[in-house]
Amino acid sequence: MLVESWSLQDSIKWTELGAQQSLPITATETIAAWLVAQFAQRDVAKLSDKESEHMLQTVIDAIPVPIFFKDELHIYRGCNKAFNTFLGLPADKVIGHSVYDVAPKELADIYYQADCKLLAQGNKQVYETQVKSETGETFEIEFNKAVFYKRNGHKGGQVGVMLNITERNQLMRQLERASLTDPLTGVSNRREFDKLVRLARQNSQKSDSPVSLLILDLDHFKNINDVHGHDGGDQALQFVVQKLLAVLPEYAHLFRIGGEEFYILMEQTDEKQAQQYAEYIRNYLPTQSLILKGAHLSMTMSIGVIEIKVGCALDGILKRVDQALYQAKSQGRNKVCLAREA
Ligand code: GH3
Ligand code: MG
Ligand code: MG
Repeated sequence: MLVESWSLQDSIKWTELGAQQSLPITATETIAAWLVAQFAQRDVAKLSDKESEHMLQTVIDAIPVPIFFKDELHIYRGCNKAFNTFLGLPADKVIGHSVYDVAPKELADIYYQADCKLLAQGNKQVYETQVKSETGETFEIEFNKAVFYKRNGHKGGQVGVMLNITERNQLMRQLERASLTDPLTGVSNRREFDKLVRLARQNSQKSDSPVSLLILDLDHFKNINDVHGHDGGDQALQFVVQKLLAVLPEYAHLFRIGGEEFYILMEQTDEKQAQQYAEYIRNYLPTQSLILKGAHLSMTMSIGVIEIKVGCALDGILKRVDQALYQAKSQGRNKVCLAREA
């Protein structure tokens, strides 16, 4: 008995009513294992037992997930309606045929190799791959396959369940992107910085090229919020990001790491070049004005600069560049300061 949601009480009720067992419809792996067991228990005489065959077919047709069986020669010996619908092929165009008859060669090659591997190793196999449906749409599919055995202990073939994980993967990718992005400005956030700075340091070591970091903090930003409200402050932050992105070199990456604080990670850039670039944007930003409710607003920023040397711990580097920013602030703001040597 397949149920939408499984509970012990309901399971007992179904058993009393004559069900062999009850399974939640979502437990595809358990269902696949149960099917394998059913298959394995059928001896040659029972194979001709039309009634049990019909009953098994009815069960698998009720499962809305594509399911198939292949024999040890990789020929389809059974499938459910969901499999036929997915491929757009009726059962007689599937059963008795090989994977090369139902899928384009490049995909069939992948399935065939996976089938051979599973049969050679026995047991279970789970893998993800792309599958083209009959409408030409490509789906990301997780195959859950298992070998079934004949009474004599020899491998009889395999049973497979196809889980459509396209939406799940898309959602996971969207979530991953969202978790690395600042929602207000759309640039990367601190979490992405932690990832990219590690990669940049690896690249720098491999290619023996310098990598530098700028920390930028808008001056007197509280005043902007006070005068123009929080919405005005938000618009100002979006404006600054737009302006910074417009003059960002190809090998640099901008991050919003806090309220009105940003990092610019610059690959292939030494301390001197980073300082020059910092001076350039420090001078450039005040030339750009944002119009907020008719009022012209221009901003300045203070910047700390450091070259990230091989062998220095990131914590120490961030502390030193922070100190450089603090120095720029204490020197009156709208300044660029280099971090001191460790
Ligand atoms: P300083 O020159 O010393 O940097 O002064 P400041 O006013 O810029 O510095 P401070 O760090 O004290 O204040 C930053 C302000 O930024 C405080 C906070 O209300 C504001 N802020 C932080 N995040 C946001 C945001 O997402 N939107 C808006 N509108 N304001 C924000
Ligand atoms: Mg500030
Ligand atoms: Mg700040």
